[in-house]
Amino acid sequence: MTITLITGANKGIGFETAKQLLELGHVVYIGARDAERGEKAAAQLGARFVQLDVTDEASVASALTTIDAAEGRLDILVHNAGILETEVNGPAALRSFDTNVVGIVRVTEAALPLLRKSSNPNVVTVSSSMGSFWAVTNPERPEFAMPLHLYAASKSAVTMLTLQYAKSQPGIKFNALEPGTTATDMTAAFGIGRPVTESARVVVRLATLDSSGPTGTLQDEAGELAW
Ligand code: NAP
Repeated sequence: MTITLITGANKGIGFETAKQLLELGHVVYIGARDAERGEKAAAQLGARFVQLDVTDEASVASALTTIDAAEGRLDILVHNAGILETEVNGPAALRSFDTNVVGIVRVTEAALPLLRKSSNPNVVTVSSSMGSFWAVTNPERPEFAMPLHLYAASKSAVTMLTLQYAKSQPGIKFNALEPGTTATDMTAAFGIGRPVTESARVVVRLATLDSSGPTGTLQDEAGELAW
């Protein structure tokens, strides 16, 4: 049995990733900050639920303690929880970085002892091509014309964290990805994006790498994406 935790999995890309990994036979823990939304999503999929707010140290610690008590290890961690703030000011910057960046540090640090007990530990981070310096400086890419200051800056940090963890934890795979522009609540105001089923496949591909798979990469569905 593969034990998998997905943060922010009560809806959107995280929910669909949970569905696809359950279909592959994983034991999936749906991490959600809101118990009612998380329990409902888990019941709908036949997954397990853990209350997990990535901005709350106690909630993160308690979620990993619950998984440790039940499973004794964690094989796959999917950092999926994220927010997109369109305003640019100090409070919005703090919220963006607290959820998108510091949340990843909190969850990774709490999960490392459990990941080290796995025979094929794998951490997949849903970042964004908005955080790619190559994409936002390339006039031929859609990211070039999207001024999402806080989201882009936070996702650059997310990708860098992935790379730093890959280097410091050679026994654990750490890869970041761009899932593809997807129609979710996050993008509803822009009216853009493809179905979650297609984007979740990109997450599932990296989540199901075997032990010889790459680490320290940024990928999209076409393969490696430039930093
Ligand atoms: P979404 O439908 O808005 O889902 C975001 C999820 O994150 C929700 O479950 C949300 O929970 C959760 N979340 C937010 N803050 C949280 C917190 N403090 N603790 C725990 N969970 C929290 O958006 P999505 O499009 O599926 O986004 C998933 C990931 O894909 C994000 O990291 C996003 O940046 C990334 N991404 C998306 C696109 C796209 O085109 N959609 C493109 C590139 C990257 P609540 O329901 O409680 O709010």
